[in-house]
Amino acid sequence: MAIRKPRGTQDFLPEQMINWHYIEQRMREICKVYGFNEIRTPAFEDTKLFLRGIGETTDVVQKEMYTFTTGDDGGSSFTLRPENTASAVRAYLENKVYGKEGLTKWYYMGPMFRHDKPQAGRYRQFHQFGAEVLGSQSPVVDSEVICMVVQLLKDFGLKDLNVEVNSVGCPTCRPVYREKLIEFFEPKKEQLCSDCQERLYKNPLRILDCKNETCKSLSVGAPEIHEHLCEECHDHFEELKTYLTAANVQYTLNPRLVRGLDYYTKTAFEVQYTPLGAQSAVAGGGRYDGLVEELDGPHTPAIGFAMGMERLLLALEKQNLLPEPTVEPSAFVVALGDVAKVEAFKICQALHDAYVTVEMDGQGKSMKAQLKYANKINAKYVIILGDDELARGEAIIRFMETSEQETVPLDTVSERITSLVKG
Ligand code: AMP
Repeated sequence: MAIRKPRGTQDFLPEQMINWHYIEQRMREICKVYGFNEIRTPAFEDTKLFLRGIGETTDVVQKEMYTFTTGDDGGSSFTLRPENTASAVRAYLENKVYGKEGLTKWYYMGPMFRHDKPQAGRYRQFHQFGAEVLGSQSPVVDSEVICMVVQLLKDFGLKDLNVEVNSVGCPTCRPVYREKLIEFFEPKKEQLCSDCQERLYKNPLRILDCKNETCKSLSVGAPEIHEHLCEECHDHFEELKTYLTAANVQYTLNPRLVRGLDYYTKTAFEVQYTPLGAQSAVAGGGRYDGLVEELDGPHTPAIGFAMGMERLLLALEKQNLLPEPTVEPSAFVVALGDVAKVEAFKICQALHDAYVTVEMDGQGKSMKAQLKYANKINAKYVIILGDDELARGEAIIRFMETSEQETVPLDTVSERITSLVKG
């Protein structure tokens, strides 16, 4: 049996990579405008990082991690990263960045791994673009992060985005709210799904975003966090809304937006693109003022988001918003026989030196087959090294669009082509 790719993973062939490069470039551009610099962290980390950084009660940690040990690391356990925030904070602490910068603004792109049930828009290896701001508790920063996400998606041409915001409180006000939720759900415990029965005492906020229809209906009328925010969280949330309105970002309040991770405080947000169907969340993020301390660092308020790159590509594809591939002008050198091939090789090298895209035959094709291939790859200029021309120290340049030809001295071919291509 032929070996196949693992379930929930994808191959991206060159046609698709054009689209990946397109979105990545736009992401880098917007990050530059907003003052974010790129980081890269390992694709796997010490398992403890995710246990502490994501939270042991979350689905990601409980069900979805790819965890392994290797023989030679003293039994250490490693995990393929299911997300990048915990790694970013680990890198922030390990490199003592907090001592060097007032405000740290980082972005990342790369593969993440979750052992979830694959379906359209949900993969076991997927890619996230995300950003983190460490060192500020100001709602200005929260708003800026949301604005960046919304601007990026809008600039891609996506319309009808649904931006949902909420505040999930902080360690001062959330425990009171937790108790209220437990009180509310306790009498209905037996009717909750098995996951939510477990969540009831460990992480009752998560019952609010359970997708199970029974749990959804059971949570109608549940106490809302907005009524229980402490003054600080309340004011923070009000300011956030003021800034979003000032920036003309249209948003809806979603008191059920609790997100899966324990370290989130205050702002939580999600951007939905409903035409994507069941997996409509394109990006999500929020404030995590407690995470740096959780990982043994100094108190550092922070906020971040992550965007699913496959989901974004699906959305752009659906709406026909991916650019038509552009054909870069290129050349092909047609040559037959040993002497001509050496000359062709020299011309190719000279053109490669000048960063002109050029190819020659490497498969022993006939002259006719070489011309056919040049046509197939859309070469704009074909250089023909025929016997007669070579004997005269010349070459023919054929302009493929018009079929016109010109004869030039062999030692000027590469310069001529370079000036044609580069202008
Ligand atoms: P999260 O880290 O769970 O907040 O996810 C942030 C974003 O990553 C989501 O809004 C999705 O767009 C994307 N995402 C999360 N999990 C997957 C997955 N299994 N496959 C594809 N995209 C995902």
